[in-house]
Amino acid sequence: MILTFPHMGNMYIVVKGLLEYLDLDVVIPPFSSQKTLNLGVKYAPEFACLPLKINLGNLIEARQLGADTIIMAGGVGPCRFGLYAQVEKEILHELGYEYDTLVLEPPDKHLGQFIMRLKKIIGTNSWRKVIEAIKFSYQKACAIDLVERKVQYLRPREKRIGTVDIIYKHVLNTIDNAQSYISLQEATGLGLLKLEQVPVNDDLRIIKIGLIGEIYTLLEPFVNLEIEKELGKLGVEVTRSLYLSEWINSHLLMNYSKREKVKPFVQLAKPYLNYFVGGHGRETIGYAVGFSQEGFHGLIQIAPLTCMPEIVAHSILPKVREECNIPILTIYVDEQSGKAGLVTRLEAFIDLIRRQLENQRRIAK
Ligand code: SF4
Repeated sequence: MILTFPHMGNMYIVVKGLLEYLDLDVVIPPFSSQKTLNLGVKYAPEFACLPLKINLGNLIEARQLGADTIIMAGGVGPCRFGLYAQVEKEILHELGYEYDTLVLEPPDKHLGQFIMRLKKIIGTNSWRKVIEAIKFSYQKACAIDLVERKVQYLRPREKRIGTVDIIYKHVLNTIDNAQSYISLQEATGLGLLKLEQVPVNDDLRIIKIGLIGEIYTLLEPFVNLEIEKELGKLGVEVTRSLYLSEWINSHLLMNYSKREKVKPFVQLAKPYLNYFVGGHGRETIGYAVGFSQEGFHGLIQIAPLTCMPEIVAHSILPKVREECNIPILTIYVDEQSGKAGLVTRLEAFIDLIRRQLENQRRIAK
């Protein structure tokens, strides 16, 4: 059995760490690229969500590298995610890419089924070893997030654009290669130390933006056209509504780690959206309110075109904008999206925020 799974940002480091800890064979698909997207667009239904198309491309590329078993997350609720695995399996089968598929439904909804499917993956490994592997790979997710938050802080401040991202890439590799807690700690500590030493400008007026929206577009730089890097170049410090370790902790580990500070987004969303609408629609609203209360200068919602939960959130955001007095930009991405168009919109939005702030300062004098 040679396992694979689709990409979603840095998630591959965590899943690979887990599977390798259990001595299982794993093939990581090449990073998502135009070629991956082209494959997905060619074979997926036209109106499928963008993440499905790219996932499909990942799986075709992984099959070509020898993978024969897919691990996929399942989903519940009123959006298309719950159908992904089945649709992808059928398309791959029709194309002649034979795969075994192991779909892991969220454990908080179907615990028995989750354990049964997990057993199939772990083979002869003991449950004790599985728990150790989960703990270790979760620590990798925490390390990635720690480094990533530092990167988000430094990007708008670095003197030489790009320095932080060169270090970030290197640190991710060392976290990926870490085989023990000691080497993981070393990789994280050294990485943070190197980032600390990046020369920065201290006298800049930094704009703070909260990035909210659908999980895949938030976490996968190929799909969001590296929006965080582009914002960094514009002097913007980004904070996302969603980080890998928080998501793993709350969705897969049933809040095993009490250290993770989960924002009370359900409470914050309540006056505007009082029920689950699938995906991360409710988080989008809750975090929009939370970020505005924390003094952020603006919000950017990002989602795949036709993403139902985010369309629901989008329709509510004007009310949040009005009542919380915060500028909000919504960006939908699909296979036609290009970086030049994105950068133009970001520049206009950040320019607007800067001018508003200048006006406020002038009035306050
Ligand atoms: S959250 Fe949006 S993009 Fe993701 S599966 Fe649901 S509808 Fe599609």
